[in-house]
Amino acid sequence: MICVIGGGAAGFFAAINAASQGCKVTILEKGNKVLSKVRVSGGGRCNVTNGVTTLQGLLDGYPRGHKELRGPFTRFNNQDTMNWFEDRGVSLKIEKDGRVFPVSDDSGSIIDCLLDEADRLGVEVKLGFAVDSISPSSTGFIIHSKNNTLQASKIIVTTGGGSKPESYNWLQSMGIQIVYPVPSLFTFNIPDSPYLDLMGVSVQDAVVSISGSKIAVQGPLLFTHWGLSGPAVLKCSSVAARMLQESNYSFEVQVDMLPEVSQDTLRTQLRTFSQQQPSKKIETIRLDGISSRLFERLCELSGIPIGLDLGNLSKQATNRLVDSIKATRMNVVGKTTFKEEFVTCGGVSLKEIDFKTMECKKHPGIHFAGEVLDIDGVTGGFNFQAAWTTGFIAGVSACNG
Ligand SMILES: Cc1cc2nc3c(=O)[nH]c(=O)nc-3n(C[C@H](O)[C@H](O)[C@H](O)COP(=O)(O)OP(=O)(O)OC[C@H]3O[C@@H](n4cnc5c(N)ncnc54)[C@H](O)[C@@H]3O)c2cc1C
Repeated sequence: MICVIGGGAAGFFAAINAASQGCKVTILEKGNKVLSKVRVSGGGRCNVTNGVTTLQGLLDGYPRGHKELRGPFTRFNNQDTMNWFEDRGVSLKIEKDGRVFPVSDDSGSIIDCLLDEADRLGVEVKLGFAVDSISPSSTGFIIHSKNNTLQASKIIVTTGGGSKPESYNWLQSMGIQIVYPVPSLFTFNIPDSPYLDLMGVSVQDAVVSISGSKIAVQGPLLFTHWGLSGPAVLKCSSVAARMLQESNYSFEVQVDMLPEVSQDTLRTQLRTFSQQQPSKKIETIRLDGISSRLFERLCELSGIPIGLDLGNLSKQATNRLVDSIKATRMNVVGKTTFKEEFVTCGGVSLKEIDFKTMECKKHPGIHFAGEVLDIDGVTGGFNFQAAWTTGFIAGVSACNG
């Protein structure tokens, strides 16, 4: 019998794929419910994967794991995920930003599909079974919880992420190397941001950089009442997850709100406006992707009064405005969890794993899948995709190996 430890996305996908190869499979789940994260994922809609169309585009979604996932994605990728769910009656849609959701906009559709499929294939689920160790036996392994033991010929560990290092102790005690876990996918707290009252205002295309590093991420930006959020900030938090944890979440960000226009071009544009329409007011200027409310705030921050005739816009004031638009600096003090999706950077070291089978090199017969591994993606469905891909390979290999 194959035992899958953890009844989340990766655990169910591994169990279903092992059972579909003819193996008897039991899922051991410590909680009293399975698939809890799938339920709350994507704000209750479950962003099940991403619709990106190239392998490179898919790999680019993983600050940790991009190299190792290349092979696995040639066997089961995001298109395979979409086909898998659609073949089982879940209609999916790809939104403009690439995120894939069930047409129902209800994570229940994904959960029901996984539960039905597991049931159809005879996968058994034991709830309230918190595994705390594994020991070898003559026929495979003995799995121990506080009050129970169970025999298994193969094991698939899919216990998920978690930024508490203690939760990996039982794996570490088997000699498995754990990369210190830290949170990823969070928003930035900026208590003295001059934009706090502009909450809800967004910039279509910005570049967010971490001062003193090479990290710079382009994408939509959102002002919130506590600081900054939006895809560019979330991706930045993912790419820089470990560095930001080391800084104790105290660092400077720089924001370019018009990355496609150089400082010189913007300066020239503003000078041209002031020369050609000297009697127009400064607030009538429209810049692509910057709302009028935000533009007015940028003028105020540059010491330019609203109502100023463009003809009176000095060279120095123009330079200050260009600076505010292209290089605003803000001090981040702390982070806020992004409730739509958060994940762990760190976990089982990828050096421990054979990615052809997801088997632990030190412990043949024990496979790993999902977020328990040191793999995590940016927001947009990449995290579930890693769970489906690694779960598929672990399930098929554990049954056939
Ligand atoms: C609020 C939120 C929203 C999210 N939304 C999205 C989204 O829309 N799209 C996306 O791609 N990603 C999303 N994610 C990330 C995604 O949910 C995870 O990456 C994914 O669930 C990982 O699947 P997993 O099976 O590896 O782990 P999990 O889903 O965490 O499952 C692990 C399971 O193992 C059990 N377990 C742990 N230890 C033991 C043990 N010792 N014994 C027995 N059982 C154990 C746990 O109780 C849990 O049920 C979201 C995350 C959060 C927190």
